[in-house]
Amino acid sequence: MTLVAGAERLHSDLAELATYSEGGPGTSRRLFSDAYRDSRDWVRETMRESGLVVRADAAGNLVGVLEGNDPRAGTLMMGSHTDTVDGGGNYDGVVGVLGAIEVVRQFREEGRRLAHDVVVVDFLGEESNDYGLTCLGSRSFVGDLTASDLARVDTAGRTLGQRCADSGLDPHGLLAAGRQFQRPRAYVELHIEQGPVLEERGADIGVVTGIVGIQRLLATFIGQADHAGTTPMDRRRDALVAAASAVLAVRQTGCDAGGQGVATASDISGYSSGPNVVPRTARLQAEMRSIEPVWLSAAERRLTQEIQHMAESYGVEVDLEWIADNEPRPMDGTIQRRISTAAEALGLRWEAIPSGATHDAVHLARVCPTAMVFVPSIGGRSHCPEENTTIEDFVHGVGVLKETLTDLDSTRA
Ligand SMILES: [Zn+2]
Repeated sequence: MTLVAGAERLHSDLAELATYSEGGPGTSRRLFSDAYRDSRDWVRETMRESGLVVRADAAGNLVGVLEGNDPRAGTLMMGSHTDTVDGGGNYDGVVGVLGAIEVVRQFREEGRRLAHDVVVVDFLGEESNDYGLTCLGSRSFVGDLTASDLARVDTAGRTLGQRCADSGLDPHGLLAAGRQFQRPRAYVELHIEQGPVLEERGADIGVVTGIVGIQRLLATFIGQADHAGTTPMDRRRDALVAAASAVLAVRQTGCDAGGQGVATASDISGYSSGPNVVPRTARLQAEMRSIEPVWLSAAERRLTQEIQHMAESYGVEVDLEWIADNEPRPMDGTIQRRISTAAEALGLRWEAIPSGATHDAVHLARVCPTAMVFVPSIGGRSHCPEENTTIEDFVHGVGVLKETLTDLDSTRA
């Protein structure tokens, strides 16, 4: 009975939220867009109708609270995000927020009051923004956002802090939000897998073992500009050729990882002075991801040496800048077991899988026991208009989230 009611409500919530979009193919609700701002009024209202007491924290996160009956028990938190990439889908993040709201509705319908306060959060701006910063709201929520993050500048020369202020978010509030925050006893995030593993293995639920760490590389190659017709091949110092070799080295690093990690070169820029000039400079962007910190640091060392060696062989200088985006973050083992037990109790097949994408949970994991529940993505597609998850799988995810919370509530810290 509850499952059917849940499916109908989830279906209509998904359709309703999808109407908020900037236009163009797929769904676009980017940070600072009118569509995103308007959609969050809808989320706030939907939380309220579901019985949550809603407020926005100093970071612009929407926080809904269902009070428990034991003020000393603390809080159990669920959540995710409702912003999207440009031309994205209707499920990434959305499933976690709407799913958590549905869990609250079902608790209320069943007349169940937990000992803990149940908190649902729609975190502000999880997707990467014009400033290359992901998880703006959850970073801020745990006190991890810095003044230098807000000083980042976009291509139009505006700082992130200024853009926040222009859209009604107090930059000081963003920096201070972490101080208001009371550590939850646990945070559990429902999310779509965004990859093909669960579907391929015929699993209903993914129990996330950890979230990958990301090392980003910016490599600047400097050679020498010369005439492309008159300079003999063995006298050239061609920056683009050195950068192109680095692209293949990055790919090989991922191929050699044996499933422990992935590596991607995403861009080469700044090399062309015209078709008749040997390129003097080239900038390469790449990244590596793994849940194994040892693999990640070893791969960084190896790749650094390899790129330096190759550049030297082409007579090109190279400057390598590595930036750690997130460190690998294991999920809480005890909550993982509760999730798999909940899945089994509901007759669902589960698989333990790492998350290759980053999530708000990576920041919450710094301050409280944290875990994630994945549901399958059809064809493994995500961050595109084809992103899809069946309503049945969504309902399964909600069921597991609800059982996990119930289980956490029945045992005290
Ligand atoms: Zn997401």
